[in-house]
Amino acid sequence: MTEARKQGEVQAPQAKQKKVLLLQPPYGDLTYPYHALAYVASAVNAAGYETDILDLNALWLNSLLTPEQIEAWDREVSTEIKSHYARPVLDIAAQDHLAELIRVQAICRDISVVTCKQVFQGDAFYDPAQYNLARRQFRMFEALLSHFYAPLDFFTAFSVPPHISTASHLATMVEKSTRLKHDLAALLRQYVKGNDYLFIGVGMPFSANIAGGFALLDTLADVFPGTPRIAGGTAVTDLVKYARGDQALAPLARYSDAIYVGEAETGMAQMIDWLQGSGDAPEHVILPAAEKPRAPHQPTYVSLGGKGEKAGRFKPFDWENHPPRLDWVDWSLYLSPERRVNYAPVRGCFWNKCTFCDYGLNSDRPTAPSRTMNAKIAVDVVRDLAKEGVTFFYISSDALPPNFLKAFAEELIEQKVKISWACQLFLTKTFTPDFVALLERSGLVQASFGLESGSARVLEMMGKGTDRVDQILRPAFEAFRGSGIALQPLFFMGFPGETDDDRQQTVDLLLEYRDIFTPISRGGMFTLLAGSILAKNAEKYGLSDLEFPDDDTFSGALNYRHNGKKNAPNCDFLQPFNDQLPAKAEFERPWVGGIDTFHTHLYVEKHGRTIFETMRASSDTIQINIDHTTRSPYDIPAVIENVLIHRVLTCPDASQALPEEMQQSAEELIGSVQRGQDQTYRLSILPYRELH
Ligand code: SF4
Repeated sequence: MTEARKQGEVQAPQAKQKKVLLLQPPYGDLTYPYHALAYVASAVNAAGYETDILDLNALWLNSLLTPEQIEAWDREVSTEIKSHYARPVLDIAAQDHLAELIRVQAICRDISVVTCKQVFQGDAFYDPAQYNLARRQFRMFEALLSHFYAPLDFFTAFSVPPHISTASHLATMVEKSTRLKHDLAALLRQYVKGNDYLFIGVGMPFSANIAGGFALLDTLADVFPGTPRIAGGTAVTDLVKYARGDQALAPLARYSDAIYVGEAETGMAQMIDWLQGSGDAPEHVILPAAEKPRAPHQPTYVSLGGKGEKAGRFKPFDWENHPPRLDWVDWSLYLSPERRVNYAPVRGCFWNKCTFCDYGLNSDRPTAPSRTMNAKIAVDVVRDLAKEGVTFFYISSDALPPNFLKAFAEELIEQKVKISWACQLFLTKTFTPDFVALLERSGLVQASFGLESGSARVLEMMGKGTDRVDQILRPAFEAFRGSGIALQPLFFMGFPGETDDDRQQTVDLLLEYRDIFTPISRGGMFTLLAGSILAKNAEKYGLSDLEFPDDDTFSGALNYRHNGKKNAPNCDFLQPFNDQLPAKAEFERPWVGGIDTFHTHLYVEKHGRTIFETMRASSDTIQINIDHTTRSPYDIPAVIENVLIHRVLTCPDASQALPEEMQQSAEELIGSVQRGQDQTYRLSILPYRELH
């Protein structure tokens, strides 16, 4: 048993000591390696332990993105189609399934995964037509994943982040994910079987990782029986943060021995001591099996100041002496022609006043307090990575403080470090033409920023300051207009008290500066988050009747009334405003045109910020059908028509508009089809539909 160490104390690795295994689960962006595990590994190493790190998302996707796998799926789906054709009659459920099987077969016969990889990883990447072709191949690949790995959904994972409503909902998804668990077990046996680990950490930074992450945790029990399994990452932290009731997390205990909430570096050494039997579980650790896992709404680990017993207890990890570890990255796994690292020399937010914001675990402010690394040390890390061929960086932080930006840019220039970088900004008066020129000289090519609204009145209600449009935003936009830097505005509509006139002001401002906003996306819908300043001071903001959705123990989003009026149930009212914007459905994460994506960064670097307008205006379309032939004893065009009509009749939105007798008789209206003589059908199949 080791003696519990002091927080931040560093130990050298000892001989024959167990290692720690860190895993990144599906599903995630395959254009670059996600950085979180690189930071966790650094903290584990600082605690005196070696690490093995596997990006299982990348390994798994690469194991499937092969012609052999597509052929295997084709054989599988063809066998299923044959068994349908052998039946004497097909009811509407069987017709629906058959139509889906034919779509999947058509994709298997049309897709070229070799082209997909070659284009994304080679010079053809920069040709928009070839890029669109490769993107189409990957979208079809995602459609195949959604079919073969149901109930997990891969096709909409980035545009409509999956929401887990309850722990039992998550457990059901995990239980049904047998094919994924089989694949992950095979990869673990191939790469790390036989190793003895102190614990295995599974990082889930995004909600798209949750179902795959817990499926992986379930798999670990078979491959590494008895080894502690720890779940961590922002998406898991959110589950803990918003969990309602002491037992909301209990069903997760069968998959995870503990959940580490918040920034993993901070308490890593203490957690390792605890796992070795020394001391209590640190306050960052939640035990889902415990009767009272911990009061998840009052974590104090990021409170730098404040009053009371916990004041000043938070001691940040010594990050300046422990840079992220990236030596485990196999760059050949990622679908980009260059290497990008997300680097985080700044944590938290220096502004920390937006009334709608609720990010991280702070209970006193919207998000974590700002911490800034010495810019020279940050540039040293960047320089060392650049020597290893990493020349694209995303400086990963919610809002970079201007003084850090200035010091970082000056240091890059001083040390003659040639990189291309991107980041997220919070615009202030500091963004003068000289300051923007300095950033551009240092290699900044693209930056997203929280525009939020084009109405000064709404921005003030949002806590963004007074007269922000004229005093801050317009002067900053003019400064950026004099540079080549691409700005990507993030904004939303529907803030309580916002009017149509306010929304129109947002649209007008976006259109006025469309030459520097590259590209403009559609505005999202406001969500009232439980930990936001708005929710905590509801009365002051005219809000009442705050309540969580029924049958949902993990949602942070509240329903509410504003000045007595219920919040809008959907975003239809945004349509007239979004329709005025030059957005394009294909400009989404993680592809070219998506906010903060690596591919957008590469396109701006290569073609300049006007490229998206050119691509948007181009008549190139990737929404094209596949010519597909099938020989069947069923009238396939009739089957497809039946299925389309049935889907309309049973679609929740559409069915409400239909007379009641039609809603209830969809099955009877469509009916079954009888088997007939074999015929050859030439079909035109839409492989997938772009999401708007
Ligand atoms: S919305 Fe952004 S700028 Fe505002 S408090 Fe949150 S992290 Fe900071």
